[in-house]
Amino acid sequence: MTRLTPLLERNEQFARDYTPAPLARPAAQVLIVTCLDHRVDPAILLGLRLGDAPVIRNAGGRVTPAVIDDIAYLAFLAGQLPGDRDAAGTLFEVAVIHHTQCGTGFLADPGFRQQAAEATGLPEAELEASAVADPYATVRGDVERLLASPLLSPKVSVSGHVYDVATGRVTTTVDARYPEAHRA
Ligand SMILES: [Zn+2]
Repeated sequence: MTRLTPLLERNEQFARDYTPAPLARPAAQVLIVTCLDHRVDPAILLGLRLGDAPVIRNAGGRVTPAVIDDIAYLAFLAGQLPGDRDAAGTLFEVAVIHHTQCGTGFLADPGFRQQAAEATGLPEAELEASAVADPYATVRGDVERLLASPLLSPKVSVSGHVYDVATGRVTTTVDARYPEAHRA
């Protein structure tokens, strides 16, 4: 017995009507980066279906070096896989989605951050960098960070959005654009 048992029963239902999705480029031509918060599940709030979009989640939905590495690999992989391709050969759009009421927001408070650092052993500076106190500001910063990375494929565009936990609505705050090298 495990706490997963009732969820495995749901999986049994799922598997009964299951149709496997082929290994191909994401059907929605989007890759989502968002928070691991259980209230912010992109499959549910964006109505994603199997094969639509890869999703990378961490605390806050931050564009960390590890996230940039994953995006670089996924862009390479997408270039190798079958799927629709436009004339410019673009691969997908990375949609960074931060949200209101983020649990990382507490880390903006120095006292809370110090306690968290002591309890977890994580460096205070790292905790501070991960805080999403104002999702409109952090999502803009993370879009810029990703666009500035030399690891980002010129065939990948980046956009920024904020999910409001109170209303269930996603608002686009940074329109999709390609890294500078691509526009030159
Ligand atoms: Zn969050």
